[in-house]
Amino acid sequence: MIFHVLTIFPEFFEGPFAHGVVKRGKDAGLLDIRIHNLREWTSDRHRTVDDRPFGGGEGMVLKPEPLFAAVEAIWQRDVPPDLPPAPNRKTVLLSASGRPFDQHLANAYSREAALLLICGRYEGVDERVAEHLADDEISIGNYVLSGGELAAAVVIDAVARLIPGVLGNETSAAFDSFQDTGHGEGLLDCPHWTRPAEFRGWKVPDVLLNGNHEEIRRFRRQLAREKTARLRPDLLAE
Ligand code: SAH
Repeated sequence: MIFHVLTIFPEFFEGPFAHGVVKRGKDAGLLDIRIHNLREWTSDRHRTVDDRPFGGGEGMVLKPEPLFAAVEAIWQRDVPPDLPPAPNRKTVLLSASGRPFDQHLANAYSREAALLLICGRYEGVDERVAEHLADDEISIGNYVLSGGELAAAVVIDAVARLIPGVLGNETSAAFDSFQDTGHGEGLLDCPHWTRPAEFRGWKVPDVLLNGNHEEIRRFRRQLAREKTARLRPDLLAE
């Protein structure tokens, strides 16, 4: 799978994908992350990407022209014009006012061949990008970040680990929190413990030490339900 990122801060991405699961996925050729500098698609001497908002008000807004030019060029490069356009790709705008990004959407994105993530900055992005360029406008949570770069890194991380083969055989995402594909059924993950079996007087539940896999499975499920009811009752109400 290919992740394209469109940003005015390409250096931002030198760190986040250089470790762990995402790096392993890249090294194994299961995913590729391509960072594009929005300023490459400006045409003036100052490489201007923003302008003042119509109607007045604080802050600057990312202009539509470089964004449209960039997205069109990136997809063109990715899918040569003599081939029919690939339907299995999405252009996604990161936005505080987007629809919530969640595990369900992460699963759906992991089945695409390519994603192009547009990172906003300043006061936001000209609305025509959301209306006529992006397939989806998504938010990673109900808070305002100063730019879409962190949000894009979050989306890539969450999607990358769902691509078959990326986590490897020993770990499966099926039982993770929010997954509706395994036996978790959208609950939080069950709590985990490791050695020592007793730490500062706090003991690991006996059931987990007894080797009875069926009993352990039922116990974990019960703990997952209890934890979900306590911390995220909204998930049970859905
Ligand atoms: N004025 C906007 C916030 C702009 S923040 C508002 O109040 O809604 C600048 C950029 O950061 C946005 O264009 C978006 O790309 C990114 N951003 C901020 N919060 C985000 C969030 N919760 N999820 C995804 N992207 C976000």
